[in-house]
Amino acid sequence: MNGLMLEKQLLISSLIAHADRHHGDTEIVSRRVEGDIHRYTYRDCHRRARQMANALTRLGVRASERVGTLAWNGYRHMELYYGISGMGAVMHTINPRLHVDQIVYIANHAQDQYIFFDLSFLPLIEAIADRCGSVKAFVAMTDREHMPKDAGIANLLCYEDLIDESSPGYTWPEFDENSACSLCYTSGTTGNPKGVLYSHRSLLLHTYAAALPDALNCSAKDVLLPVVPMFHVNAWGIPYVACMVGAKLVFPGPGLDGKSLYELIEAEQVTFAAGVPTVWQGLLNHVAQGDLTFSTFERTLIGGAACPSSMLRTFQETYGVDVVHAWGMTELSPIGTVGVMKARHRAMSPEDRYITQAKQGRAVFGVDMKIVDGLGDELAWDGVTAGDLLVRGPWIASDYFLNQGESPLLRDGAGRGWFPTGDVATIDTDGFMQITDRSKDVIKSGGEWISSIEIENIATSHPAIECAACIAARHPKWDERPLLLVVKRPGESLTADEVLTFLRGRIAKWWTPDAVVFIDALPIGATGKVLKNRLREAFQDYLLR
Ligand code: ADP
Repeated sequence: MNGLMLEKQLLISSLIAHADRHHGDTEIVSRRVEGDIHRYTYRDCHRRARQMANALTRLGVRASERVGTLAWNGYRHMELYYGISGMGAVMHTINPRLHVDQIVYIANHAQDQYIFFDLSFLPLIEAIADRCGSVKAFVAMTDREHMPKDAGIANLLCYEDLIDESSPGYTWPEFDENSACSLCYTSGTTGNPKGVLYSHRSLLLHTYAAALPDALNCSAKDVLLPVVPMFHVNAWGIPYVACMVGAKLVFPGPGLDGKSLYELIEAEQVTFAAGVPTVWQGLLNHVAQGDLTFSTFERTLIGGAACPSSMLRTFQETYGVDVVHAWGMTELSPIGTVGVMKARHRAMSPEDRYITQAKQGRAVFGVDMKIVDGLGDELAWDGVTAGDLLVRGPWIASDYFLNQGESPLLRDGAGRGWFPTGDVATIDTDGFMQITDRSKDVIKSGGEWISSIEIENIATSHPAIECAACIAARHPKWDERPLLLVVKRPGESLTADEVLTFLRGRIAKWWTPDAVVFIDALPIGATGKVLKNRLREAFQDYLLR
């Protein structure tokens, strides 16, 4: 027997329609590529998203076809998020920090019909235009006045012209909620990038979960600043959450340096911001140098890479900004776990609480997770035993877009598919998951595993260390041993012996790195993560020399 409930498909367009109807006057503020600050409301955004849907229809875009973007976080990108998905086409956000050849590969693999771009990416578009066979035209996300002159692109359109020529009279179509709405490629440190294809239903469910108090905890009282790019897993869902709860939205555009972010946080009274640790380090350096404080900034979601506990402490103790550590992946839309404390943690000493807070957190409702050994058998949730982390749920990828290879899923005894995350983790009795490594970064010393993340975490709590990466270096006796690469803070002096002395007593003796090497900077990839494979290439024979 079916329930007697109205049938209403879960569609992306309903989010912006809701924000317009119930929070129509709430602002969306953007730092523009043109250099100024732009502000308008959800009502304006909804109107222009409908105009864009009309424009796309006129350009011949049909349901399920892909439309690409190469753009920063801004209001025009937001209009495309809703205009493209809302009309039934697929919003394909491309990461402009990828190598040109990868961008060409991605645009061709996705068969993008149009690519919208911010002016900062004009040289990139000029470099790829002739190589993207499916693209009918490139659209510069600007007005007529700022349109590039003499651009070497055959089919170049102007965003504001498209809007001006289109009526806001557009009714969002109703269709199956399982239809694809957006596409995002994983940065793929090895091999070609792989496309993760989200559905309207999966993203709507993810949005409900992401907004929960024990997740991003967002409401109409908030001012949200997604520093994480809209080309990186939908800015972790914030453009959708903001519409669902009616929060004011602040987009940083290309201004991701500490000074620009600080100015925006203060001027727009931001309460919540989300980003990767490398970006926050820039903000913290700026605030420390200027002896500044925050007046409204309450909490920050940090993920994408492990949040060093030193960063957690600085935000909380020095600036009164609560840190929520979260874990996810492109294949998870992206939220998997969020490190919000439980009632019983209130009674803990701050030191014990920091240990829990530094973990990647508890699964949000909708994500089922487990850790398994090499045979696929489930391991204990004791906070000590580490295993391969598997997940399942309605916003977790079941396959990659146009994947020629095998399904990535692993089947359990009951035939259910689990997505192997490639991460190695422990889970404690409270359900707090802690990533100990990516499976390819684990250091296998004499058959035992050493967690590179834990060593890095402790190293970066040293006041003279800016950042550190621990990698597996080949060893004649133990196969692999840890090698610690350290970047000193500017003006600090530090010796390898001092680093090793600092680690002593804080990690198991056999985890002690065989060598500490000082380098100028760590290589950072397109999604803000340290490129450990590049470090391994350069240093893996260091101990054999
Ligand atoms: P890509 O895999 O393309 O680099 P993703 O953003 O999908 O980009 O990366 C997901 C991976 O990032 C996870 O599998 C995990 O290894 C790492 N990661 C994400 N959040 C955290 C975190 N809070 N702590 C440690 N690692 C994290």
